[in-house]
Amino acid sequence: MTSETLRLAQKLIRMDTTTVIDGNKAGLLVVEDCLYELASHAERSGATWSMMRFQGGHEKWPYPVSNVVVTWKKGNPKQHLCYMGHVDVVPVGEKSQWNTDPFGAEVKDGFLYGRGATDMKGSVAAFFAAMTEVMKTQDHVHVSAIITGDEEWAAVNGTAKVLAELKDKRIPIDAFLVGEPSSPNALGTHVKSGRRGSLVGRLVSEGTQGHAAYAGTFKNPNAVLLLAAEILNGHDFSMEGESPSTNFEIVALNSGSFDASAVIPAKAEALWNIRFTQNWSPNTLVEKLRDLLTYPPEAYKNHPLIEDVKKLRLVANLHSASLPYKTPNECDLYCVVTFALERLQNKEPTIDMDGGTTDGRFVQRFYPEAEVLEFGPPERGGLNDDGSEPEGYMQEGGMHQVNERISVKDLDELTKAYARIVSLYHNP
Ligand SMILES: [Zn+2]
Repeated sequence: MTSETLRLAQKLIRMDTTTVIDGNKAGLLVVEDCLYELASHAERSGATWSMMRFQGGHEKWPYPVSNVVVTWKKGNPKQHLCYMGHVDVVPVGEKSQWNTDPFGAEVKDGFLYGRGATDMKGSVAAFFAAMTEVMKTQDHVHVSAIITGDEEWAAVNGTAKVLAELKDKRIPIDAFLVGEPSSPNALGTHVKSGRRGSLVGRLVSEGTQGHAAYAGTFKNPNAVLLLAAEILNGHDFSMEGESPSTNFEIVALNSGSFDASAVIPAKAEALWNIRFTQNWSPNTLVEKLRDLLTYPPEAYKNHPLIEDVKKLRLVANLHSASLPYKTPNECDLYCVVTFALERLQNKEPTIDMDGGTTDGRFVQRFYPEAEVLEFGPPERGGLNDDGSEPEGYMQEGGMHQVNERISVKDLDELTKAYARIVSLYHNP
């Protein structure tokens, strides 16, 4: 089983499926080739598949994107489980810092190296290899896999549109298993039962441009913006029982020029991002931010710039917000996954909602009753076989980092865990 997963993971990594953001046709075709590779692999274990191409809905992404839906069906199963994954990868970053070819898929000291090893071609390969095993050993199986080429960037013509089409065709799905990296260090210690939502927006401070030496001739937008950022950053959004909770961060600032030290600029802008739990909605968050600026906390009430803070323009990208989701910890898939992982590590996995957004967020819109759980490889590239940390741990080897890797042992264990989860799900 190990060699099948490893061989497939290597094949996938050797195709450069870096998210195409410039309409590079060749790149889009590589993504499709990668999906065909998976489809024909699955066909050998008795699966059927269909390629789905979608286009439009994004001004910077006017190209057709490919997705594949693979279905393994046999016997008379009661429930339908769907795996979700992606084959597009983020750019390699500083290529000179890689010790191997990022698309070489080299195996060294027990690790498979390459862009996408952890996020998430290793997981996809493990699931497909697991299904070969499941089809050989189980009598009743109904499993699908939605694999997209549009997750890492726009995510408009990927999983969401596939789900819409499956829903349109009235295909019932009871549970979704997202194969994204889910535990920080060792395989199987963590499972995500949801993810926080994400809202992005800007704070715009308008001032009056002038000479820095002549007070009274300018109104400094930077000072007002910084005060507003301090007020918003200082607010505790957390509520009882949340882990992680809601948090506000300023992610980028745009103002003035480092080449003009005597010029006060006319405008300053901040880009902000809030990761939020189900206790908030994009609208209640915007309301809260406006309130904090309009009715600032006691400590700021007499600040000389507070009246200007009240006039700041707050813009929120409500249309592109991703909503949080949470699966109750008491359903079929939840029990099966915790049981399977308990066997892997002799203790129950931690269930949390940490980490970035994934395609799991699209499920609720189309399949509100379905369970969604996320279980995949370790986020930081995994540990050595003896449990020690590899050299450069945390700085490299993990998802989106240079020298991304996955341990060959984890690939094998992940394959076994997926096979066990699918089997148990159909025969509880
Ligand atoms: Zn991913």
